[in-house]
Amino acid sequence: MIWLDGVLVSPGSRSLHGERILRGHRVWDPYRSKLAALAHLGHEVDLPSSLRVLYLGAAHGTTVSHIADYVECVYAVEIAPRPMQDLLSLARQRENIVPVMGDATRPGEYAPFLERVDLIYQDVASPRQAEIAAAHRVFLEEGGTLILMVKTRSIDATADPDAVTRQVTGALASCYRVKAVVPLEPYHRDHRALVCEGVK
Ligand code: SAM
Repeated sequence: MIWLDGVLVSPGSRSLHGERILRGHRVWDPYRSKLAALAHLGHEVDLPSSLRVLYLGAAHGTTVSHIADYVECVYAVEIAPRPMQDLLSLARQRENIVPVMGDATRPGEYAPFLERVDLIYQDVASPRQAEIAAAHRVFLEEGGTLILMVKTRSIDATADPDAVTRQVTGALASCYRVKAVVPLEPYHRDHRALVCEGVK
């Protein structure tokens, strides 16, 4: 990841979502992107140019576009039609974004359009987070990484966030080992990032 004078950026000289351009780079706002927040909290993710990424819950493509500034290819899955329109228009401008309209709880429906990837980034704000991550383990290369953004309140609005996180971590155990759990305050309330590696 690239920092210019303490500001996280991605290598693109044209603003896509109104973000500031700093010395020919797009400023990557930690309040708008949980992956940028994770980096600001000391957990930078390696994004080499050869990386292939599967992104679940692409929404309007804000974070997708920054990742795509760095890497070879991003497969971007989104279920909702309105954000999908923005994602399609983004993909028309960027050769390395593959938009997939699909339901992440049913990966079999879009599996033929994917290849195995080095990084799975999941931000679907669903109560079925662990189940979705497990169903996509098959797409992760050996030694690959899963970053799972957990909105604890969308899983259980009344339970203690630590208990919800432990529940998700336990449910992942057969497919992933959780290496770090990072609360995303002050950038994103009630969110935890789980940085995981695939288990064989
Ligand atoms: N990651 C985005 C970003 O940083 O720009 C924000 C993602 S937003 C919190 C969650 C997205 O997941 C929404 O756009 C929603 O439509 C999508 N989503 C929810 N359930 C889904 C599912 N089952 N399959 C695919 N996408 C889903």
